[in-house]
Amino acid sequence: MIWTAALLIVVSYVHSEDYCYDEPHCDPYAWGDMFPSCHPLLEEHHSPINLDHQMTRNESLEYLHLEGFEEIQTGHWTLKNDGHSVVLQVGGGMSVSGGGLPDVYHTIQLHFHWGGPATNGSEHTVDGRRYPMEMHVVNMKSIHPNLTAALDDPTGLAVLGFFIDVVYADNVHFGLISQKLSSVAYKGQTAKIKPFPLMNLLPKNNMSQYYRYYGSLTTPPCSQVVVWTLYEVPVYISWSQLAQFTSQIFSTEEDAEQVTPLQKNFRHIHPTFSRIVSVSKDAKLLTGTASRPLMSAVSLHLLQIILLGSFIISGL
Ligand SMILES: [Zn+2]
Repeated sequence: MIWTAALLIVVSYVHSEDYCYDEPHCDPYAWGDMFPSCHPLLEEHHSPINLDHQMTRNESLEYLHLEGFEEIQTGHWTLKNDGHSVVLQVGGGMSVSGGGLPDVYHTIQLHFHWGGPATNGSEHTVDGRRYPMEMHVVNMKSIHPNLTAALDDPTGLAVLGFFIDVVYADNVHFGLISQKLSSVAYKGQTAKIKPFPLMNLLPKNNMSQYYRYYGSLTTPPCSQVVVWTLYEVPVYISWSQLAQFTSQIFSTEEDAEQVTPLQKNFRHIHPTFSRIVSVSKDAKLLTGTASRPLMSAVSLHLLQIILLGSFIISGL
């Protein structure tokens, strides 16, 4: 009896333990200890993966139909820091279909993955290189009443992945999210956001260029139920908008004794094994665009300051 009680305590302790990105006992390499389905066994189909040139063109992969993405939805959306990411929970009214997806999927939420002040942090890599950030728009097959049911279906979720790269100008549409980030700095905090056309966040002129493969959730329970669509052309935000994520979001609660910045919230790359990664009809198989690591953007910025300084001095 005592042993049973002790065992129950151990089991509930293990279950209540949360996953993390920054400590050896709970980081992505240890997720399998708490969530057996996160163990990347041979020939299993996990995400993220590296995208290289071993891809297969599929001429039938054309634009996805993004229903409601151009409209302003009613009600309000909720931005939340869940301790692992910043999540924008969107209400109903939006769905994705077509483009080779096996069904209609309702849009549930979008969230972000990022690195640190001087490290890129996209989850998927292109030719081994990371973009500064990655945005995931998560959609659930509409026949399922809830996420539990969707996680039992090998194509239960369709995630649209967008690489995020950095330029000097602010992205005004992205500003609707970044201006609320200070309200969700700590784990558990939420902020209301007025709905806006979600398409404004996406690379709207290049939506027919994407890659497709079957993989998993990149967070526990790592279920292998995701039809991945990764768009080739990134979304651009400013260096300061990126810095808000890398240095002003915490994985701990506001009253925690020790506050920890939420950084490098990406899972490691997994083998493709025998999977086929398809390329849409219009994809260009861009190379070199993911090659600008964050540090070079920072150095370029410094160079501009130096040049500007010498210009001012020489002008005196
Ligand atoms: Zn994600």
